[in-house]
Amino acid sequence: MKKYLPYTLVALIILTLAYIGFERRLPQEAAVISATQTDKIVALSTFTIIADMVSEVGGDKVESISLTKPGAEIHGYQPTPNDLVQASKADILFENGMNLEVWTTKLRASIPDVPVVRVSEGVTVQYIAEDAYAGKPNPHAWMSPEQGLIYVENIRKALVAQAPQHEAYFNARAESYANEIRAVDTQLEEALGQLPENNRVLVTCEGAFTYLASDYGLTEEYLWAINSESQGSPQQVANIIEVVKEKQVPAVFCESTVEPRIQQEVVAATGARLGGVLFVDSLSDEAGPASTYLELLKHTANTIITGLTSTS
Ligand SMILES: [Zn+2]
Repeated sequence: MKKYLPYTLVALIILTLAYIGFERRLPQEAAVISATQTDKIVALSTFTIIADMVSEVGGDKVESISLTKPGAEIHGYQPTPNDLVQASKADILFENGMNLEVWTTKLRASIPDVPVVRVSEGVTVQYIAEDAYAGKPNPHAWMSPEQGLIYVENIRKALVAQAPQHEAYFNARAESYANEIRAVDTQLEEALGQLPENNRVLVTCEGAFTYLASDYGLTEEYLWAINSESQGSPQQVANIIEVVKEKQVPAVFCESTVEPRIQQEVVAATGARLGGVLFVDSLSDEAGPASTYLELLKHTANTIITGLTSTS
């Protein structure tokens, strides 16, 4: 008997340590599984605008999480270790596609069994006209409400495939959301349609408004084609200064995820105003003016109209 005692003691110590370790791990593990405990589909999106659309269609059946936070630069984003943890909890991943999120490669490799939904599938693609990305699809299709409807339909289909028992629920929510998007489209058409003919040039930092400009008959000008390449070279700045002077553009704009410093150089050289902050690659935070996709569209139109027509 006696010679087994040390083994029993060792076993007891091991068991006690294991228990302490288990106890210590508990709160963290509880946090990790909290989302799945509710039976909701954990839907991860690459940025806030898609996450908002997923949330609108998914309602209380979906926990919609955006990897990038409001205000984050989304073209050159680098996933954090925490993003990989988030990804490991996901049931489904939504991304824009069209070369916007090349940074998801490693993240996707870590979750090979999670379906990836490309929400821009089927949009009428506009192509980048200049610079290093000339000829490639312009990824910002959501800035057209008409194309945004295609995003919603792709999200609806993916959620139905993920949880067919909620099909009627997702269909009803998608339909009512699509009607809201159509209503905003009509509002934008009326509002932007009233811009005077000589005030219809939209000058921004990134060439992210091609779809919006095309829908509502604006002429798009920008400092650089896409955020992930060289931004604000002397040639780009000189080109825009020339355009603003030649077309007598009263106001120029920059986006919430971009430093307006370069556009301020244009302002200084031309006498045009800085017309305000546009939201395109990210929603604002909750308290801001573009906290949902629909608010973002309305805020964009209002900012453009005020900037281009205000006389002060
Ligand atoms: Zn962008």
